[in-house]
Amino acid sequence: MYFHGTSKINDKGHLEIGGCDTSDLAAEFGTPLYIVDEDLVRKRARQYVEAFRASGLKFQVAYASKAFCVMAMCAIVEEEDMSLDVVSDGELYTALQAGFPAGRIHFHGNNKTPDEINMALDANIGCYVVDNFVELHLLNALAAEKGKSVNVLLRVTPGVEAHTHDYISTGQQDSKFGFDLGNGAAYRAIQEGLQLKNLKLLGVHSHIGSQIFEVEGFRMAVDKVSEFAVQIKSELGLTFEVINLGGGFGIRYTSEDAPLQVEEYVKAITDAIKSNFSQAGYPLPEIWVEPGRSVVGDAGTTLYTVGTSKDIPGVRKYIAVDGGMTDNPRPALYESKYEAVLANRANEAVQETVSVAGKCCESGDMLIWDLELPEVNIGDLLAVFCTGAYNYAMASNYNRIRRPAVVFVKDGQADLAVRRESFNDIVGNDIIPARLKKEAVL
Ligand SMILES: *Cc1c(COP(=O)(O)O)cnc(C)c1O
Repeated sequence: MYFHGTSKINDKGHLEIGGCDTSDLAAEFGTPLYIVDEDLVRKRARQYVEAFRASGLKFQVAYASKAFCVMAMCAIVEEEDMSLDVVSDGELYTALQAGFPAGRIHFHGNNKTPDEINMALDANIGCYVVDNFVELHLLNALAAEKGKSVNVLLRVTPGVEAHTHDYISTGQQDSKFGFDLGNGAAYRAIQEGLQLKNLKLLGVHSHIGSQIFEVEGFRMAVDKVSEFAVQIKSELGLTFEVINLGGGFGIRYTSEDAPLQVEEYVKAITDAIKSNFSQAGYPLPEIWVEPGRSVVGDAGTTLYTVGTSKDIPGVRKYIAVDGGMTDNPRPALYESKYEAVLANRANEAVQETVSVAGKCCESGDMLIWDLELPEVNIGDLLAVFCTGAYNYAMASNYNRIRRPAVVFVKDGQADLAVRRESFNDIVGNDIIPARLKKEAVL
């Protein structure tokens, strides 16, 4: 079994994370429970920042908050000197409530509403990554109304396909995101942007996909973007100050995954930038990247209690846990694979192969197929690894299941970062129209 960060088996044979025994965490906070290894989050953040420092280029590492956006996480991102990407008013609100410096917030998205843009303008955020022509003109008009001038990157689609799942690949031409580099849309966007008085064009942004294991896609994106930069400088007289190469750096979910080290991704990108731009005699731009998954993914573990099992002789044995697609929709959405252990008997030998089902009314609500475990008893704790990214962030209340709590663990201390949802959270926004009113029976 592969243990991430501070995870290990303690002398009781229990899984321990951040110096906390997961059996104790289950007793104190209940299950399902998201556990975040704070040291590992900080380690990942520092790997990015330090690798960029070593490159000598100017840079910003912007954490893509959509991977896991809660106020405690924003506080850590702030402390680690990163910037923060948001893609909605809700993420922006979370960051601002956490006291995150607005000047380090970048606003993404292919359909920012006027209300969202106004909220960002009022907060004086650092940069807008403009996705399309409608937004380009809308942002300029709204900024003009407030008498402001705002920093803008144009999101371009470089026509690079990263080798990844279709739904999480975005750099190809047929994408809902960005201005196409190949068909002249990006060029026209720069031309139009240069005419808009309340926008300051800093450069371009490209994001080619997610869970990428090779540097080739990033190198190709750098090639396309630097070629474009040179063309724009000579034909339109604009010198890009910033090149943003997005996120998508892969992590190890299972033994099938072989990601590169953070330092290797960063070095490939900064080397390609240095060589392309210096060859062209172009002033070296500032480089921004936007890791999401690779900052929090392997730092998260979800702890469940096994509640029931069903053995179909000759077919398979199911065990069912007290969560499922509501707290982790990724297996159902992307056929994502995970590794897991029995947290309360983590040192026992493998004895059986089981498939882990959630508790939702969906046959597709499966977390792991064919997992090897010691013989599973009802009441055992199952710890699923690498659930830090796109789990809590994508959680739902399907079947009116309450979203789990999130605890941050570090040096033997466990702090609640998100409370478990209450029944009032479930019905709190419901309204029974007067004509349907009945007395509550609870
Ligand atoms: C999702 C996204 C990211 C982060 O992707 P990860 O795979 O989580 O690193 C970065 N930038 C943009 C524009 C995104 O849409």
